Amino acid sequence: MWTSRSFRIFDVERMNKGVFTLSLDFELIWGTLDLFGPDGFRSACEREREVIIDRLLALVEEFQIPATWCIVGHLFLDRCDGEHKDIVRPNHAWFPRDWFAFDPGSDAEKDPIFYGRDLVEKILACPVRQEIGSHSFSHVIFSDRGCSRATAESELRACVKAAREMGVEMRSFVFPRNEVGHLELLGEYGFRCYRGPEPHWYEKWPGPVRRLAHLWDVITAAEPPVVLPLRTEAGVWNVPGSMIYFPMHAARRYIPMSLRVRRATRGLEAAARERKVFHLWFHPTNLADGMEEMFAGLRAIFERAAELRREGRIAFRTMSELAVEYER
Ligand SMILES: [Zn+2]
Repeated sequence: MWTSRSFRIFDVERMNKGVFTLSLDFELIWGTLDLFGPDGFRSACEREREVIIDRLLALVEEFQIPATWCIVGHLFLDRCDGEHKDIVRPNHAWFPRDWFAFDPGSDAEKDPIFYGRDLVEKILACPVRQEIGSHSFSHVIFSDRGCSRATAESELRACVKAAREMGVEMRSFVFPRNEVGHLELLGEYGFRCYRGPEPHWYEKWPGPVRRLAHLWDVITAAEPPVVLPLRTEAGVWNVPGSMIYFPMHAARRYIPMSLRVRRATRGLEAAARERKVFHLWFHPTNLADGMEEMFAGLRAIFERAAELRREGRIAFRTMSELAVEYER
């Protein structure tokens, strides 16, 4: 299990200005398949496919934002036989079936929420260069005891292979559910950085208190943490998240959009002031509920980011650009 003691800070020198980094966990149905099956988020994934990715790409193009898209490897495919014999199956206690039991073994036309090659091509074609990273091959939970080293390796190997077939070399990784595990393997498969968990002030408190503390941060639009890349003992860089742009799903729809926006703009301003990184992240699927409001909020955040960039107070960087700059 990952702990904050697993890495040492080698380099905390200040940058000459703040940085805005945006990372997106792109997974269509793969992110929730083990918990909710193929129908739990089907309509959200259909909207993601039909509308959200296009609108997001238009938005990052308009604001000249180089985002880091960490993509589930299966989405590099446009078809498969459903078997994936090269993947050493995880034994996650909450999913007693074969890991690929829901894989339709068909193609993008028949089962569009399982395949995404056409969408990856769109991301690659964006006039503002986007970074393509990995979110594992099939959303196995790396920190879980049911994910052996062999499973983790087979996942990494398969996603690197699928990306290479599209001419993509990946440098950035986001762990499924942000659960860090088998960190020592990342470097072997060409990755230079990953998105670590947000360094919350309340992280050492017990669960229920943490949830209250989180809620408190949200309703007071508290300034989110701004971060610096940390070099881990595994050799890869941790580019921690600062804040999730959380969905208007279930109870969270009662949290006004203005609070999400205010928190994010506070993060951007803190990054400029402290010359650190404000690292915003979310899943494109997160925009499916209350889509117009979610996009309007995102636009407001990007407008503030663009303003700070015009003033020369922040720069936009992808995750791996940050790692490379720090490596130097
Ligand atoms: Zn498949």
